[in-house]
Amino acid sequence: MNSNIYDVIIIGGGAAGLMCAAALNIKYPFLKVLIIEKNSKAGRKLLATGNGRCNFTNLKIDSSCYNTDDEKKLSKILYAYPPKKIIELFEKELGVVAAFKDDLVYPITFQSKTVADALTMACSKTKFVYDTEVTSVVSKDMKYVVNGTFEGYNVVFSCGGVSLPDSGSNGSLFPTIKSYAGNDSFVQLLPSLVSLKSSDKDIKKLSGLRQECALTMDGHIEKGEILFTDYGVSGICVMQFSGIYNRSLASGKKIPYISADLIPSMSSKEKLAKITDLIKRFPDRTASDALSGLLKEPLARCVVERSNGSPEDIAKIAGDFRINLAGSQGFDKAQVTSGGLKLKKVTDGLELQNSRGLYVIGEALNVDGICGGYNLHWAWASALTCVEDIIDEYEEI
Ligand SMILES: Cc1cc2nc3c(=O)[nH]c(=O)nc-3n(C[C@H](O)[C@H](O)[C@H](O)COP(=O)(O)OP(=O)(O)OC[C@H]3O[C@@H](n4cnc5c(N)ncnc54)[C@H](O)[C@@H]3O)c2cc1C
Repeated sequence: MNSNIYDVIIIGGGAAGLMCAAALNIKYPFLKVLIIEKNSKAGRKLLATGNGRCNFTNLKIDSSCYNTDDEKKLSKILYAYPPKKIIELFEKELGVVAAFKDDLVYPITFQSKTVADALTMACSKTKFVYDTEVTSVVSKDMKYVVNGTFEGYNVVFSCGGVSLPDSGSNGSLFPTIKSYAGNDSFVQLLPSLVSLKSSDKDIKKLSGLRQECALTMDGHIEKGEILFTDYGVSGICVMQFSGIYNRSLASGKKIPYISADLIPSMSSKEKLAKITDLIKRFPDRTASDALSGLLKEPLARCVVERSNGSPEDIAKIAGDFRINLAGSQGFDKAQVTSGGLKLKKVTDGLELQNSRGLYVIGEALNVDGICGGYNLHWAWASALTCVEDIIDEYEEI
C-alpha cells in the first residue's frame, strides 16, 4: 500500500486541526491521519491565547455571541457541542481539568501549554509533517493530492484566518478553497477583537491610563476597563466593539465615536451634585485638581479642558466622554478574523457543497465570536462536527 495515502489529511495544526486529529485518534484509531503544518511545531496561536492562559470555552455559549452568515447552522452545531460537553471532553478524553472565572473557562493550570500539550498527546496516532506549507490540493480519482505528494480521501482545511499572521495563518489557502467553493463563497476579511484608533489629540496624553467605564457605540453597550494608548483605545470592552465597527466601515457607514461614561456608578444627577460640591469645597484649587479625587489624573484635566468650565458641562462630559474613531489596528494585532468562507457554502457536517471529502473548520469559516472563550469553542465544535461527518461516511460504506 502507498504509504502516502491517508484517510484524512488535516491542513494546519492549530486549535481546530489538533482537535480534529485528536478526536479521530480517540474515537476512530483505525483511521490513517496526517497533519501538515507550516510551522516547526503545532498550536502556535493556541499558546498565545488568553494571555498565555487559554480561555478555552465559556459557560454562556450562544449563537447570538457570534457573527456569521448562517446563524441556523451555527446554532445547530453549538447545540450539539455545548460548553458542558467540551469541558467534559477536555477532562475525560484529554485529562485537562477546568477552572472557572465567572463564565470563562480555563485549564486549572492557567497555562495554554497544558491545552496544546494535551491535544498533541491525544494525537499519538497522527503523523505530523512540519515546516511544510500546503500550496495545492488537487482532486484525482476520488481522492485529493496535497502538494503533489500526499493523497487523502478526506482533506480538512483548518488553516485559520488571517489574524496574527506571524502565528502561521495568513489566508494563503483561501484561493484554493475558493476554487472549489466558487467565486462568491467568501465574506470580506476584516480584523476583529482588536484595538481602535482615535484621531483625538488629547487621548494621546492619556496613554497608559486605565479607567472603568460604561461604553456605548452606535447603540451597542459594553462595560469594563478601557486602556488609553498613544494611538487610541484598547481593553476587552473596546475590542468587543471592533468587529461591529469594521464591518460597518466596510459597508460604507463610518461609526464616528465611542461614548464613555467615566463614572458609571453615578447617575447624571449624582455626578453633577458631586462635581458641584467638590469645586465649591476647594475654591483655591483648579477645577481639575478639585476633581482629582473623583477622576484619575490626567483624565480629570482632560475632561475639564473639554468643558466650558461649568459644573454642568464637566458632569455632562464625564458621563459622555467621546472618543472619535479613526479605524482599527490591523490583522497583525487582531485576535480573530471576521469573514472567511461562508457557512452557507458548507453542509451541516462542514463539508464543502459539491466537493465530497473537502472540509473547512475553525477560523477559516465566516464565524467569529466575542472575547471570552467563544472563538476557541468554535474551533473545537467545528472540528468535532467535521469528525462526525467523516465517520458517518465511513460507516455508510
Ligand atoms: C493573542 C490571541 C489571543 C487569543 N485568545 C483567545 C482566548 O483566550 N479564547 C478564545 O476563545 N480565543 C482566543 N483567540 C482566538 C483563537 O486563538 C482562534 O480563534 C483559534 O486559534 C482559531 O483556531 P484555528 O485552528 O481555526 O486557526 P489557527 O489557530 O490560526 O491555526 C491554523 C494553523 O494552520 C497553519 N497553516 C495555515 N496555512 C497553512 C498552510 N498553507 N499549510 C500548512 N499549515 C498552514 C498555521 O500555521 C496554524 O498553525 C486568541 C487569538 C489571539 C491572536
